[in-house]
Amino acid sequence: MSARDVADVAVIGTGIIGLSTAWAVSGLGMRVLLVGPRSHTGQASAAAGAMLAPFSETAAGDDPLSSPAEITHRAAARASYGDWLARLRSESGRVVSMTDGIWLVATAHGQGDLEALELAARAARDQGASAEPHPPSEVPGLSPARTCPAHAALWLPGEASVDIVELLDALSHLLSVRENVRWADTSAVALEPGTAGSDGPLVVRCADRERYEAGRVVLAVGSGTGALAAASPGLSLGLPLVLAGKGVSVLVRDTGFALPTTVRTPMRRFACGAHLVPRAGGAAYLGATNRLTPPGETSTAPALEEILTVVQSVGDELNTGVYHRELADVAVGHRPYTLDHLPLVGPTEDPRVLAATATYRNGVLLAPYVAGLIAGHLSGAGPLDARPWRPTRPVAVPSLGEALGDRIQMLIDVLLPAEGVTAPWHLDLQALLGVAARHLVESPDDARWRPLHRLWDRAPVVETLPVLLRAVRDLPHVANSAAGRSPARKDAPSGRSKTGPVSRQRWRQHRLTPFGVRLSPAGQADLDELPPERLKSLLLREHLLLLRGFTGGSTVDKFEAFARRLGPLVVWGDAPIASVVAKAEPDDHVHDTGFMPLHWDGVYKPDTPDIQMFQCLKAVGTAASGGATLFSDTTRVIAGAAPGTLDLWRALTFRYERPLGGEMLSRSCPLVVEHPHTGEPTLRFTEPVPDGVHILNPPNLTLERAPSGCDSAEAIQQIRDALYDPRYMYAHRWRVGDIVLADNRALLHTREPYPPGTERHLLRAHVRIGDVAGDTPADRTSLAGQEVG
Ligand SMILES: Cc1cc2nc3c(=O)[nH]c(=O)nc-3n(C[C@H](O)[C@H](O)[C@H](O)COP(=O)(O)OP(=O)(O)OC[C@H]3O[C@@H](n4cnc5c(N)ncnc54)[C@H](O)[C@@H]3O)c2cc1C
Repeated sequence: MSARDVADVAVIGTGIIGLSTAWAVSGLGMRVLLVGPRSHTGQASAAAGAMLAPFSETAAGDDPLSSPAEITHRAAARASYGDWLARLRSESGRVVSMTDGIWLVATAHGQGDLEALELAARAARDQGASAEPHPPSEVPGLSPARTCPAHAALWLPGEASVDIVELLDALSHLLSVRENVRWADTSAVALEPGTAGSDGPLVVRCADRERYEAGRVVLAVGSGTGALAAASPGLSLGLPLVLAGKGVSVLVRDTGFALPTTVRTPMRRFACGAHLVPRAGGAAYLGATNRLTPPGETSTAPALEEILTVVQSVGDELNTGVYHRELADVAVGHRPYTLDHLPLVGPTEDPRVLAATATYRNGVLLAPYVAGLIAGHLSGAGPLDARPWRPTRPVAVPSLGEALGDRIQMLIDVLLPAEGVTAPWHLDLQALLGVAARHLVESPDDARWRPLHRLWDRAPVVETLPVLLRAVRDLPHVANSAAGRSPARKDAPSGRSKTGPVSRQRWRQHRLTPFGVRLSPAGQADLDELPPERLKSLLLREHLLLLRGFTGGSTVDKFEAFARRLGPLVVWGDAPIASVVAKAEPDDHVHDTGFMPLHWDGVYKPDTPDIQMFQCLKAVGTAASGGATLFSDTTRVIAGAAPGTLDLWRALTFRYERPLGGEMLSRSCPLVVEHPHTGEPTLRFTEPVPDGVHILNPPNLTLERAPSGCDSAEAIQQIRDALYDPRYMYAHRWRVGDIVLADNRALLHTREPYPPGTERHLLRAHVRIGDVAGDTPADRTSLAGQEVG
């Protein structure tokens, strides 16, 4: 390929993602231009432990990585890894060592580690993989310091690790000899629109002054994504912020003790724990740190303190023998990650440019999987529908005020991480930080704060907050206004206080089955303390949140106030809050106790609510007495549908009709509709009433658009069966005080019948998120005869 030739695809970036993608795309017979350094020094990939860890990367309190969808992607990536390595071996002639199994060990870090082991075990079992608890004494290679005893161990035979040096070498070798791959050992300076307009090839301008043309460009530049996008103003990519988590890892020539397989601790919030991974020839990998690097400050040198941290945590927590081994190498890399911690894979706003990055802690595991998605998209065989990873999805950016309000407790934990901090000490610091935070947020124009606000704008993540607050805290006028409380003392007493250990989180998350998350306070917490933006982004990801045990929502007024904090209310009728309760003489099936069709709220309304909220005032007694509210997650239904079924569903449009108040309401809507906030495909469907069942004002549905030959009754039955599949349906049994937030755009809901006369009383509110409501394909479809009020 000469410089003037147009490549079919330019892959920019030569880390594990770029190399794997270039291999997959060249396998399609396309002409590939690979742009990036041949040397792996400084890459996240080269610094990686290269554990293939779909389950042990799950951490308590780390929402995105613990989401079932992410674990499913990771498990799928793991399942095909062996075949991928075998193909690599046969095409490159190079062997890449893989060691099966990972030991996950809970150490002196306490309850958090134990919870993480439970989460990992559950994640593995949910995916049909094995997770075996063992006493720590049975873990080969585990010999921690006496001050860091191990409390529990989990053997995960479905996990593995690979030798990353061998892997990168094999891929590099293969791509160097492929005829349809040209490797430009330089870096891309900018992407430019070509002369042929918006459908023509793009120009990749490089540091060696060459300009290459390519029909499509895959951005696999890891933590360099933001810089390259910013240097390419002629293209509108619409990518979210990509941050860098700097990782330092250490290689020792040999361990001096037997290490048949990887031994590691769980992740701990931003920190990724201690890892000891066997490498070829008896060498071992010790990892790793994870420190936020604000954009533009990508440092490639390790600080001595970072090396010390790695050695000390692996030495103390896993095996003290490493202290005396010979150093072979120290690697530094920057993990690319987004604020929602999900990868960016697929077309950007400019369909000619695809993103393949932000794989954060799992890029080595995900590389073949991501490469397969990109190649499938480029070949047209499998247009990319990896919705949660869609590069143009909205990613919430918290304001500094919100972040501080939410995180003061966590900051205290970060600044004073020991378990044994005493309560008065904790209060001193809380007061001081509260004052510091107020100064910072309330005086944005104060010249002294400007650099701090700039820092926040570049890296709006909790890891930035300690830096900001330390700077503000040290200003005398801030310290003085901390209401006479003493500033942080170095001689603070340690050990547990009489009032117990400091809680590490204000509330805890528990996964519901088969989807949704329960939030409950760690001690006592008020609904008002829950940060609205975080709740909404959690809801959009999980689709259902149960808030249980919070104070402050016990009256209609308080429930309404809480709902209004999430967004403007959608009000039908006089009252903003509806009472969902059976009536003695019901005028509609909503106020009856029998069968209710599965539906979404607002079928016949012009304004579809985004969030449906319930609060339980009175609950039905037992499971046997019915009355549960059933939610079907249609995004999961779609994900589980066979490709042929989904193609049929995409071709269907239903018309719904139902009588109400003397009028006939009517609505036509495609079955598959894009979620306006997440872009996920969803199903919009109102179930017909089964034969022999009679309800007030029954809905009727007819197929308005369908491929020829489609059997309407069969199609409806198939949809219904899928929606009621227990893998996709969550049944909520009410307890008094429960608040449920449901994503009305993704879910359909109904209610189990229950005996008349049973006490069951719910409050309901409808909330709109942002200003996109009413602008979806579903809302744009015909609303003939729509009900108003
Ligand atoms: C210490 C550490 C431990 C890890 N452990 C694991 C693990 O055990 N398991 C796991 O699965 N993952 C792990 N990860 C995460 C994994 O390494 C990353 O997710 C993955 O390597 C990201 O790959 P990448 O190709 O996107 O980025 P990188 O490997 O950083 O590669 C990006 C490449 O793009 C190049 N580039 C940047 N800008 C340009 C430009 N303008 N033009 C051309 N080229 C450019 C860079 O030079 C670099 O070569 C770890 C990461 C670190 C740092």
